[in-house]
Amino acid sequence: MRPTGKLHLGHYVGALENWVHLQNERAQNGAKTYQNFHLIADYHALTTNTDSSLLHQHSVEMVLDWLASGINPDESPIFRQSQVKPHTELFLILSMLITTSRLERNPSLKEQVRDMELETIAYGHLGYPVLQAADILLYKGEIVPVGEDQLPHIEITRELARRFNATYPKPDGNGVFPEPEGKITKFSRLVGLDGKAKMSKSLGNTILLSSSPDEVMANMRTAVTDTNKVRKNDPGNPDVCTVFAYHKKFTPEHETLQIDADCRSGALGCVECKKRCAASVSMFLDPILERRGKLSPKQAEDVMLAGEARARDVAEETMRDVRAVMKLG
Ligand code: SF4
Repeated sequence: MRPTGKLHLGHYVGALENWVHLQNERAQNGAKTYQNFHLIADYHALTTNTDSSLLHQHSVEMVLDWLASGINPDESPIFRQSQVKPHTELFLILSMLITTSRLERNPSLKEQVRDMELETIAYGHLGYPVLQAADILLYKGEIVPVGEDQLPHIEITRELARRFNATYPKPDGNGVFPEPEGKITKFSRLVGLDGKAKMSKSLGNTILLSSSPDEVMANMRTAVTDTNKVRKNDPGNPDVCTVFAYHKKFTPEHETLQIDADCRSGALGCVECKKRCAASVSMFLDPILERRGKLSPKQAEDVMLAGEARARDVAEETMRDVRAVMKLG
């Protein structure tokens, strides 16, 4: 995840919830199903914004939200890309194995160019799927939890793993890298408060994971509802209402069914409905807020340093394999 500071509910629903679930999944014999690695993609952040002055602060805030949401750093190392040097080394090697035209065809890049109205792109921006491939392959990652929009990047990683393995086979004929798979689990996207498809800080339509109940209520007041429900007793349509999308995620199901019925009949007004929704969201955030309150920025820094030491060990070992098959050094 790129360090963009405090995280919002969209990050939780789209990624964090899933990460915690994977971290805690156990086989019948109690063994962990997955070993998670959580990368703070600070170099990736530079591909679209070269101002690095807030990266540290943003990383700390993000780590506090990860920890408060249930990422256990003893099980799942948390580390900054910039502090584990093999990321740049493997990135350089992999960048020799892919053509610029292949990278120019990357649909996510085309989307970014369009959305950010870029006239030209930096060399590093073109190559960011290659850096992402290095991020995954250094840990010999087999599974990458992603949203559907990220699958083209996983495909590039798979291509690079195949190409590296074919170009530099081990003496036994096998490859150094496994071909990772994108795991599209329960990926869901939370609509923004303004009804836009995505919660995003740049759109100002978010509820932060670290919001107090008053802040949640203030945010919820701005949420877009069914615009045809003008007066309190007008019948409404929850299917087109942002608030109802949040009820579906955060309010118990039996209550949500009642809200659906009462909205349609006109028995429930939007002001009351938003109050209930804010209460549900705050109840959900309560344990996160409590855990976050007990954490200090220093603890987040210590977690990153410890995670970096562990990540470095794994990444260096992979690079020894890489250098050996390439006969470097
Ligand atoms: S009553 Fe609730 S669900 Fe219905 S339109 Fe208003 S806010 Fe949305």
